Amino acid sequence: MYRSHNCGQLRMSDVGSEVTLSGWVQKGRDLGGLTFVDLRDRYGITQLVFNMDEDDDLCTKARKMGREYVVQATGMVKERSSKNPNRATGDIEIEVSSFNVLNESKVPPFSIEDETDGGDDLRMKFRYLDIRRSPIQNNIIFRSKLSLETRKYLSDQGFIEVETPFLIKSTPEGARDFVVPSRLNQGQFYALPQSPQTFKQILMVAGIDKYFQIVKCFRDEDLRADRQPEFTQIDCEMSFVHIEDILSTFEGLAKHLFKHTLGIQLEDFPRISYDEALQKYGSDKPDLRFDMSFVEMNTFAKHPGFSLFDEAELIVGICAKGIAEQYSNKDLKDLTEWLQRPQIGAKGLVYVKYQADGSIKSTIGKFYSDEVLLSWAEKFGATKGDILFILCGETEKTRKQLSELRLELGRNLGLMKAVDFKPLWVLDFPLLEWDEEAGRFHAMHHPFTSPKKDDIPRMLNGDHDTMKSLKADAYDLVINGAEIGGGSIRIHDRALQSRNFDLLGFSKEEAEAQFGFLLGAFEYGAPPHGGLAFGFDRLCAVMNGQSSIRDFIAFPKNNQGRDMMIDAPSAIHDVQLKELCLEVKVDKKV
Ligand code: ASP
Repeated sequence: MYRSHNCGQLRMSDVGSEVTLSGWVQKGRDLGGLTFVDLRDRYGITQLVFNMDEDDDLCTKARKMGREYVVQATGMVKERSSKNPNRATGDIEIEVSSFNVLNESKVPPFSIEDETDGGDDLRMKFRYLDIRRSPIQNNIIFRSKLSLETRKYLSDQGFIEVETPFLIKSTPEGARDFVVPSRLNQGQFYALPQSPQTFKQILMVAGIDKYFQIVKCFRDEDLRADRQPEFTQIDCEMSFVHIEDILSTFEGLAKHLFKHTLGIQLEDFPRISYDEALQKYGSDKPDLRFDMSFVEMNTFAKHPGFSLFDEAELIVGICAKGIAEQYSNKDLKDLTEWLQRPQIGAKGLVYVKYQADGSIKSTIGKFYSDEVLLSWAEKFGATKGDILFILCGETEKTRKQLSELRLELGRNLGLMKAVDFKPLWVLDFPLLEWDEEAGRFHAMHHPFTSPKKDDIPRMLNGDHDTMKSLKADAYDLVINGAEIGGGSIRIHDRALQSRNFDLLGFSKEEAEAQFGFLLGAFEYGAPPHGGLAFGFDRLCAVMNGQSSIRDFIAFPKNNQGRDMMIDAPSAIHDVQLKELCLEVKVDKKV
């Protein structure tokens, strides 16, 4: 028997019993007569004490144990004289009578404690050591609980978990595919799925009715800070549903997950349209933990002679409450410079300070009287002590810039509390997005998304400009400014699907070659259907108030898409290349 208890289990009620524990040495403290060792496993840390006076030999042996040695210790549970209230086992310790070193360890390359000194790549290279640290371990345990609760909820709702293949067909639409060469079909390639989209739709044609899968998806994109080439989705599809059925089912899922993992009861999720989200927050994933919504000023702020405003397509501002005293001229200058960085690219920042004494101070005081500026303050609902921040220029850019400023202020003013959860649905996305550079439409969600019912005749018969105004039956779930998931009601009619491919620039032959199987299936009684997918890694991170998904993935890749632990990707042997009929490079290292 390696252990009678785990390292997080023993309490005062166990005092007096003899126990055996196994675990890793977190650290030791040698206090002359006594040697203390913290023994750690997944469940916690228990203090071992070796008493020199009682057994000299034992103590000498104990002193030789290094950090991360794997040890088995037997002894009596004793009440501690100096208790540690921060530890569940902090009232007791084990007075060791015998112990075994089960395995030795090299000195770890970084400290295995809650706060570590290890850099990202080092921690990924020694991921097994990193996972021993409780912040990472807790994340992984949380993830396991979340997937269990997801399965519970969805199966209670009648969903069936179906696995779809990983070796599928490459389609150029969307992100770049990872491809896998086929040995048996030389010169041909599989692709790893970016999502099981077409398969889950086919499952609806097949009568499965309610499908889900917690599934890996693969996208070969340039990696931004928080992207992983492989990530996990909770992927779902339902038949005979309207938007309302989907929103209520998955709002239910989100509420269930918050309740059963965090003990938080979420209120009903507000809904706003895509257009309104852009107009009020400059973003289709607004963070609603604080208000600071946009006020458009074109109707009252134009001023003959003030060309900055006169020539702008949009003048728009936000009101930051109660910061007029707190924000010095230097702070405002810093904020302006922050906005002018190329990443954001604002030309400048106009502000109107409504000072505590009721006076007005503004960068545009030369052009507007105090009364006018006061009347603006009123329109913003501002009171003494507030500052209005105003940007102007081309609509889309200006909204984006003001959205960045809004978030920056939210962060600086402590308005984005990690444990405050503000979910919402964003609805009515455009169906198509015009790509000026490529001179073609892209699907805003994906090519299988249905236009709103009322827009179908316009889609079938309208001109080019009409296409830009079509709305889709598509929706996103956003929590605290992060897109947690999205989906749509699908097209289930062959003619409409063909028209959509047409608009997206597919020739008849291309559409047939790539999606013939789906179009074919639509000829055999496809039910109306729709679905969505939640980003599982992102959901884990957001629920834990963290911005990075990396530490919720047991074995993540770094920013170059590399697995630092197994050192992948790597070259393959010439023999393998030959078998796959791929070019053999002579100078490559294997
Ligand atoms: N397949 C979509 C995605 O991966 C989600 C959906 O439409 O269900 O984003």
